[in-house]
Parts: sequence; C-alpha cells; structure tokens
Amino acid sequence: MAKPILTITDLSFSYPDQPDVLQEFDLEIHRGDRVGIVGNNGCGKTTLFLLACGCLTPSAGHIALMGEPIQPGQFHPQVGMVFQNPDDQLISASVWEDVAFGLENMGLSLDDVDRRVAEALMLLGVQDLAHRPPHHLSGGQKRMVAIAGVMAMRPQLVIYDEPSANLDLRSRRRLIQFLRQSQETLLIASHDLEFVLEVCNRVVLIDQGRVMADGSPRHILGNTALMEAHGLEVPYSLSSSVNLSAY
Ligand code: ADP
Repeated sequence: MAKPILTITDLSFSYPDQPDVLQEFDLEIHRGDRVGIVGNNGCGKTTLFLLACGCLTPSAGHIALMGEPIQPGQFHPQVGMVFQNPDDQLISASVWEDVAFGLENMGLSLDDVDRRVAEALMLLGVQDLAHRPPHHLSGGQKRMVAIAGVMAMRPQLVIYDEPSANLDLRSRRRLIQFLRQSQETLLIASHDLEFVLEVCNRVVLIDQGRVMADGSPRHILGNTALMEAHGLEVPYSLSSSVNLSAY
C-alpha cells in the first residue's frame, strides 16, 4: 500500500497548565482521502490541525508528512491550512499580494509567483477581485481568496477548519462544488454534517482527545447511538435511514 500522506502516532498535546487536549492520538491519512473531522466544540480539532501544520509542538508522539517528520516552527507549504476565520488569514493590502504571500516565502521567482497567483485566482473564480483589499470583500469572497492563497502553494494536504461557517447558501454550494472536484487530500473539521456528507469519503469522530470512530460518512454520521454518545446528532438527511448502531 502507498505510504500515507499524514501519519500521526501516539500524539499527545496540552496547552500550558491545562489538561491534555489530545491523548495518544493515532491517525493515518492516505492520498485522495477526504476526511471529515467531527466532534463537539473543544474536542481538539483546531489543535490537531495546528499540530499537523507544525504551528504547535506535541507534548509526545510523532507527526510525519509523506514519511518525513513535521518540524514544529518550520514552514511546511506541503500542508495548507484554511483558517476558520478568513480575517486571520488575509493580511495584505490586496488580494493579489495575499495570494502571493506564501509563494514568496517558498522562495519562488517573481515570474513563478505571478503565474501561480493568476492560476489560483482563476481556479477559485476570484480573478476579478485581484486588486481589491481583502477586508472589503464579502465573507464568501474572503473564503475563496483564503483558499486561493493555500492552493497556490500546491499543497499535498489541505486542511479546512469549519469551511462553511458564516457562508450564505450560494457561497456554501460553490465551496461544496469546488471541494468535490478538488484533487487534493482533504482534512475538514465541520459542524455542518450535511456539508461533510456531500464532500467527504471518510469521517473521523473525535471526543476527549481520541478517535472514537473512523469510517464511511453514512456509517458514522447515521449511527444514532454513536452520535448521541458523543453529544452529536444524526444529520437530517440520514435521520430516517436504517439505524447502524451495530457499528
Ligand atoms: P475544537 O477546534 O474542536 O473546538 P480546540 O482545538 O480549539 O477545539 O480546543 C481544544 C481545547 O483546548 C479546548 O478546551 C480549548 O479551550 C483549549 N484551547 C484552545 N486553544 C487554547 C490556547 N491557546 N490556550 C489554552 N487552551 C486552549
């Protein structure tokens, strides 16, 4: 079998003077996986993502990207993260400069930066916004620009933290269509379980810092007993389906 894109082994993490957020956490993500990470607020989804990007240092355990250890504090353009709040991600004076930011940090030539920025803006359908200040954009436009900045770096793994939060129906639908045709390996934390059902081919349910279930979206999200045991609800579109509590 091909080497996993992301391997997390025995990972533990706690913030200073706090109990463990993640405890002996194990997860393997393979090329082409589109994994929905579900769990209640505070179960550690964002913390897991920040660890996978090298933004936090584990208390114990290992994280490897294509077999190479993730070095905390280093820039890892192979892992792209789209933050929950685009205002945390969009910091430049124009959309163009924002999408160029990561590429410049990769040390690419100016020509390559320009080419990749133009491609990424086109991919996300936001080329007309190139010269607008990001803070003047709508929430949906900001989200697409933030994704363009990540996609421009051509990451192997793209992490989305609550990507449908605060989007209107049209922007949410556009994002679903974009993600469904995306070729990248995806890790998506979301409380929008209908969104997860439409986009993901695997779901990992987290509670108390551990993986509680890992399997097909319909199997996990449609399991009333499992979902309720972890403070979650079966999404409406599955609520009349067969109860899979034997999982
Ligand atoms: P989720 O994304 O699943 O909502 P988080 O990873 O944001 O969960 O948070 C996990 C736990 O860690 C929560 O109890 C939260 O309060 C705590 N936490 C998150 N960030 C910090 C921080 N910077 N300092 C201290 N505790 C934090």
